[in-house]
Amino acid sequence: MAFARPPSNPLRMPTGGDIPCPTNSLGALADDPAGEGMGHSRRSTAPVLALIIAMATPLALGVPPAAGGDQVTSVAVTKPRYESPGGMVPIVVTAWHPPAGYAIAFDVDLVDGSPATCTGPMWRNPIRDTTSQKCYLTLPLTPGAYLVRSRATFSRAGMADIVVETVSPHELKADGYPSSTPMTLARAQAIEHCWNQTDYVWLTFDDSMNPTKLAFVFDLAHTNNVRVRFLLTGKLLAKQPLYPRRVRRHGHLMGNHTYGHLPLSRTADEQVLSQIDRGAASTTSPKLLRPPYGAGAFTTRLESLAARRNYSLCRWTVDTVDWRGDPADVLIERVAYGDYMTPPVGPGGVILMHGHGEHTMEALQGIIDAVRARGLELEPLN
Ligand SMILES: [Zn+2]
Repeated sequence: MAFARPPSNPLRMPTGGDIPCPTNSLGALADDPAGEGMGHSRRSTAPVLALIIAMATPLALGVPPAAGGDQVTSVAVTKPRYESPGGMVPIVVTAWHPPAGYAIAFDVDLVDGSPATCTGPMWRNPIRDTTSQKCYLTLPLTPGAYLVRSRATFSRAGMADIVVETVSPHELKADGYPSSTPMTLARAQAIEHCWNQTDYVWLTFDDSMNPTKLAFVFDLAHTNNVRVRFLLTGKLLAKQPLYPRRVRRHGHLMGNHTYGHLPLSRTADEQVLSQIDRGAASTTSPKLLRPPYGAGAFTTRLESLAARRNYSLCRWTVDTVDWRGDPADVLIERVAYGDYMTPPVGPGGVILMHGHGEHTMEALQGIIDAVRARGLELEPLN
C-alpha cells in the first residue's frame, strides 16, 4: 500500500502539555509516554508514570519483553480536557510497544470512580508500534477534576499476566453545565457517526476555509466523485456569504458548527440556542450540529437543546488532528491505521479535517486513497 511508508518527519506534539491551539476541534490531551513527539527513540528516558504491578514468571524483573531495542511497554490515554458533569467522554487507550504474542485487554476508570466501557475492535499502528482501543467514560455529576487510570493486561496461555498501569498526569475536569440524564453508549456511537446509516465514509471540513482551498476541495472532490460536508462557523460565513450557495452548487452539504466556536458544555442554554441560530443552516438530513471541540457532544443536555432547533448532534470517528501542523504523511497514517489519538477509518466513518490545517490539502488525495485501500467507499457526489 502506497500510504504504508513511514512518515518523513517525526510527529510533532507537546510532551504531556496542553495542546497549544485555541481553535482545535479535539480539546484533547494526549499523554506521551514514549516521548514520541521528541523525535528520538530512547523510550526509557521518557517521563513515564507507568507502573508494572504484576510480574510474568518467565520475565526477569517483571520487565515486559521489549518490541525492539530498549523500548518499554507502557499504557496511556488520550482524552478531552473537560466535559459537563454527568457527560460522557470518549477516550483512546493505547499500549506502546506491546509484547509480541500476548492478547491485550484494556481497562480505564476514574481513580476512586466509575469504570469506562472499552469496546470495539482494537487497532494497531505498525509505524508507532501501538495497539489502541476506544473507551467511553461517564463523568460524575459532582463538579471537579478527576484522574483517569488506564491499565493494559497482556496474557498468554500458560503464562502469568503482565499488567501495566498508568494514572494520567492530566486531570479531566467535570465543569460547566451539568447533564443529569446519562447518555447511552449506543446514542454516543450514533452521534460519533453523525447518524450516518450507510457504510459510506464521510469527509468533513470544520471551522474555516479560504476561497483557494475551497476551490481545491471542490476540484478534488469532483475528480474523485466524493461528497464533502462542510461545518464552517457562522462567523466565517458572515465574511463569506456566498459559500453556502457554492457548496450546494457543487453538490456538497453544510452542517452547523455554531457561530463563534464556543465550548457548548460551558455555555448557558440561551446562548447555546443563539450560537446554533447564528451558525450555518445545515443542509443535511437530519440537520447536524457539531459542537466545537466535541464539548458536550455526548451529553443529553446539549442533545435536548439541539433538538429544540431540530438539530442532531454530530462528532467524528476519525480525527486527523490536522490543525496541529503534522505532515501530510502523518494525517494519512492516522486515517489508514489509527494511532494513540484516533481510531482508523471504518465503515460509516466520519473523518474530521480543517480548512486551516497546514498540510490538509496536501494530504487530501492520500486520505481518499487510504480509505479506498481499506476496501471502503466514500459517499459519492451523485
Ligand atoms: Zn471546530
